[in-house]
Amino acid sequence: MRHPRSLSEIVENGLCLGCGLCQAIAGRDKVAMGWVDPPGRLRPVIRQHLDETSERTILEACPGMRLDGAPDPRRHGDTVAVDPAFGPFIRVWKGHARDPSIRHLASSGGALTALAIHLLESGAVDFISHVRADENRPMRSRSHVSRTRDDVLAAAGSRYGPVAPLDRFTELLDEGRPFAVIGKPCDISGVHNFARHDSRVGELVHATLAFSCGTFADLDSSRQMLERVGFPGGARGEENLSLFRYRGYGCPGPTRAVDREGKVHDEDYLDFWYGPQGWTFQFRCRICADPTGETTDVTVADAWPGGAPEVNEHGGWNTFISRTERGDVLMQEAIDAGVLVVEEQDISLMHEVQPHQVEKKQAINARLEAMAEDGCVVPDFRNLNLDDVAAQREHVFHRTNRDGMRERLSRGLNRE
Ligand SMILES: Cc1cc2nc3c(=O)[nH]c(=O)nc-3n(C[C@H](O)[C@H](O)[C@H](O)COP(=O)(O)OP(=O)(O)OC[C@H]3O[C@@H](n4cnc5c(N)ncnc54)[C@H](O)[C@@H]3O)c2cc1C
Ligand code: SF4
Ligand code: SF4
Repeated sequence: MRHPRSLSEIVENGLCLGCGLCQAIAGRDKVAMGWVDPPGRLRPVIRQHLDETSERTILEACPGMRLDGAPDPRRHGDTVAVDPAFGPFIRVWKGHARDPSIRHLASSGGALTALAIHLLESGAVDFISHVRADENRPMRSRSHVSRTRDDVLAAAGSRYGPVAPLDRFTELLDEGRPFAVIGKPCDISGVHNFARHDSRVGELVHATLAFSCGTFADLDSSRQMLERVGFPGGARGEENLSLFRYRGYGCPGPTRAVDREGKVHDEDYLDFWYGPQGWTFQFRCRICADPTGETTDVTVADAWPGGAPEVNEHGGWNTFISRTERGDVLMQEAIDAGVLVVEEQDISLMHEVQPHQVEKKQAINARLEAMAEDGCVVPDFRNLNLDDVAAQREHVFHRTNRDGMRERLSRGLNRE
């Protein structure tokens, strides 16, 4: 199998997932995240020649190109078990933020918001690196640093559109202060990959928290929602927005666009994702070998049986996996401090509420095989139990996934 040999090859071969780490490594004068529009994706643009060291570091740290789920005895300790589909785990819980206002405001049960506030207010970290809606263009999102409770609350909720959470990561390390990172599993893999190149990551990143991730939509999908709900200006009405939210204020809550006169235009969460128009997303998510954040300290997810909501709950629920000793201590401290209300469960709960992630991981080997047969450049995935999880499925499942991938490759969906 051939892996990318340059930043351009990562992007051209559909392996970029838009995290922004390459910008942070090379510096904005050399690499800057920019919009590829349509369909509305963030991709690195090389502005100046990249020196060999920067390009080598990017190739080794880029999470689009490399994932390594190897349990590290120093982080995971002796008590860690490994589930082939969900990776390393110490304990599993179901629960939510104790504060009802956080629980209602946030995406699911408010777990990440509550944990972030706890990390700040307990003095464990000076700031949180995560994302929020762009104040000036609320359909878009941007990387965000929270230093106060109010900053964290402003970032609550899922941003299902493109965002580059790591575009300022090296600037945050330059501050020399302890911090935590919240992001998608791939964002957190970028952090851990980069730790091999910069010892400050191990010293300063006090905790990494991820949510289970099924992909995010191109900006065009959000524009189509504006059209469907009759927003002023239709699909091109972005400049008329004063707020754009994908979910929250209930679980999942509506996808909401508010115009400059304050008029609310809502769409049901299920219609946004599963309506007749459908939505588009980047190729790289089809071969996501780590949809649940196996390298994190704590993973948080939705808790809907079967993986999708049936009703809009007033107060939502989360599931939690502590994966490292540090993550397990953080969870226990948050429970003892009354920040989270939880019941301990076992790993079978994750199979009940995240079946789509199990199925996705089971399919990765077959999809990668189709790519290799086609002569594609492929990412480097290590220590993610892909053979064990694939062995749980029958021949027909793998053949269907291989054929599906061949068909997508024949349409050039991996080319950017
Ligand atoms: C793109 C995407 C895909 C998802 N797919 C699934 C799925 O398949 N299964 C599932 O169980 N859950 C999925 N979720 C997670 C789910 O929507 C909840 O976010 C999760 O359960 C945490 O809920 P919470 O109430 O604790 O989060 P909140 O307390 O609302 O906190 C959310 C945190 O996530 C950060 N964040 C939001 N969007 C992004 C983003 N795009 N990139 C980086 N950081 C971000 C915010 O800054 C905030 O800190 C997805 C979320 C996103 C954004
Ligand atoms: S995945 Fe991240 S680091 Fe890799 S090329 Fe894309 S933006 Fe850069
Ligand atoms: S599906 Fe995987 S690759 Fe895609 S955004 Fe989510 S974590 Fe990243």
